[in-house]
Amino acid sequence: TTLHKIAVLPGDGIGPEVVREAMKVLELLKELDSSLHIDFETFDWNSDYYLENGRIMPKDGLEILKQYDAILFGAIGDARVPDEVTIWQLIMPIRKQLQQYINFRPVKLLKGVPSPLANEKDIDFVIIRENAEGEYSNSGGRLYTGLDQEIAVQNTIITRAGTKKVAEFAYEYAKKHGKQSVTSATKSNAILHSMVLWDEVVKEVSKDYPSIHTDHYFIDALVAYFVSRPQDFDVVVASNLFGDILSDLGSAVVGGLGLSPSANLNPERDFPSMFEPVHGSAPDIAGQGIANPIAQIWSSALMLEHLGRADLADVIVESIEQVLLDNQVRTPDLGGTSTTSDMGTAICESIKKVIHERQVNHS
Ligand code: NAD
Ligand code: MN
Repeated sequence: TTLHKIAVLPGDGIGPEVVREAMKVLELLKELDSSLHIDFETFDWNSDYYLENGRIMPKDGLEILKQYDAILFGAIGDARVPDEVTIWQLIMPIRKQLQQYINFRPVKLLKGVPSPLANEKDIDFVIIRENAEGEYSNSGGRLYTGLDQEIAVQNTIITRAGTKKVAEFAYEYAKKHGKQSVTSATKSNAILHSMVLWDEVVKEVSKDYPSIHTDHYFIDALVAYFVSRPQDFDVVVASNLFGDILSDLGSAVVGGLGLSPSANLNPERDFPSMFEPVHGSAPDIAGQGIANPIAQIWSSALMLEHLGRADLADVIVESIEQVLLDNQVRTPDLGGTSTTSDMGTAICESIKKVIHERQVNHS
């Protein structure tokens, strides 16, 4: 069987605290499943590294990362370093240079987690966000800085090729997972050239998937539907900005940032994909050992799935659900008093049980 080489970037703040728990889980799975071969290499490219070296990763950092099969990322961000450095010199170069043009975010209400929504039931969908172009482009600038006439221009770049790739990924995902519908987030009622092209391309791609129903919803209506009828969605495909906003809302309706994983995918597998929680470095709770590690542990489940071990990803998610259902161990974000490490340990214990039960059921 294949050996998977993983680059681990714990980052700043609660990043290293939650990555530690994800590693505990992965090490346990290695122990329990002799067919799982993973090697880890940890890189200290974070804000301390920046303050010491004047850069947040080595000059050949991206070349180093390219030698790995996947990247497990914690979170980055520190009050002593401008966010511009952490975002534009680390996260963005990784996402862009490694062509991780899909941002994949499950929105699933786990058993045992209260949703803030009154009519919560069966919330289980995925958001597929375009991760490389769109509204977050370098095109534009500011003129007449500081003057009354000052203007800022931000260009949205939607390309036929980029939109086609993200739409195809969404439909392929729907097909592979037996999902009935793809919902495209749009705003083409206004005179937005970019969104008109987006819609055209999504419609063209949809023709190749006649058995999958397609909805085009305006983004303003869609955010309302996320709250009023989230159970109706299967696969939501959106541009970079729309997808960003939808993801945080999606995260909130299923229990918050402590529970929300994500994957930055290069579907062609020319380069490693990166797996990270939706949350940041949470400086307000860093160093206290109380961050919820579930988002990070679930992100490593997405990594295992990407590496061809959907079976083990499944074990992790089921084990997390069991812990939440048991309701003995809860971090403060879930209303409890447990520590990050308590939660990681509880999930490890749960994994042992789940794997044991599966073996018993097989024999
Ligand atoms: P944040 O996600 O770090 O925190 C938002 C709130 O959620 C905070 O109150 C925090 O305590 C809480 N929270 C987040 N994760 C949690 C967890 N696992 N368990 C319990 N509570 C949790 O967002 P922010 O405060 O806006 O940003 C802080 C720093 O993180 C900034 O420097 C920002 O740029 C950076 N950031 C980085 C990433 C990334 O690494 N991809 C993403 C978002 C923000
Ligand atoms: Mn965001």
